Amino acid sequence: MRPSPPEWLIERGLQKTTIVAVHVGGCWTVRKSSRCIEVSQAQALHALRQQVPACTRCRPDSALGFLA
Ligand SMILES: [Zn+2]
Repeated sequence: MRPSPPEWLIERGLQKTTIVAVHVGGCWTVRKSSRCIEVSQAQALHALRQQVPACTRCRPDSALGFLA
C-alpha cells in the first residue's frame, strides 16, 4: 500500500512564519519544495480566508469550493 498523498499543502515564504500560497496536495509546482507543509482541509480553508493566495496552477480554491 502506498501512503496517500497529502490533500492540501501550504507554501511558506523564506521566513517560515509567512504563508505565501495554498496548494492542492501533489501540486507539481511545489512537489520538490521543502517550504511546503501538509495541512488539513480546514487549515487550507482557513488560510484562504486569511487572504492567502490560492495557487493559480492547481486552484485549491475551486477544489475547496471557496469562492472569494
Ligand atoms: Zn499549486
